[in-house]
Amino acid sequence: MDYLILVNKKNPIPKNFCPDLVISDNGKMLEKSTSESFLCMKSAALCNGLKIKLLSGYRSPEYQENLIKNGIIGRISMGMTKEEAEIDTYKNIAPPYCSEHNTGLALDIVTEEDDDVYDEFDKTMEFRWLKENAQRYGFILRYPQNSIEITGYIYEPWHFRYVGKDLARAIEGSDKTLEEYLTYCE
Ligand SMILES: [Zn+2]
Repeated sequence: MDYLILVNKKNPIPKNFCPDLVISDNGKMLEKSTSESFLCMKSAALCNGLKIKLLSGYRSPEYQENLIKNGIIGRISMGMTKEEAEIDTYKNIAPPYCSEHNTGLALDIVTEEDDDVYDEFDKTMEFRWLKENAQRYGFILRYPQNSIEITGYIYEPWHFRYVGKDLARAIEGSDKTLEEYLTYCE
């Protein structure tokens, strides 16, 4: 299992990539080690009085395709032209095989009361704890502030990626995005 796999809008997942998926928190699927680490992290957060939940884990490429279709339809119904709707949708949603969620290694994490992701998640105690501690469980904050030019994504305080404990510490310590870290290590 390649926990350092780079998946973004320019690097689709190889078609033979086949994660070992298990049902994890909140009925969502994750890759096996990713799930085990997340559950450990969730217990540790709870020991600190913080309740986090897995809002979104593994998504199939087919599901990703539907997200794109519905994103375009929704934007057209809000008054955008087809072209504007497509551009805006692809800015916010990855094409099939280009989303980290298709690997089973990516997680959208929110507080127990939340039903969706939101920018102000980074104002919560839960986020502050995750920012301090996630790397100890093998997770990195994948789309930090001001890195859209490199990652292709806006700031997503809820989106974490499993890379394993050693690498998570190294990447967090380097203050680099996964893209920069991998180029730097080549
Ligand atoms: Zn995500």
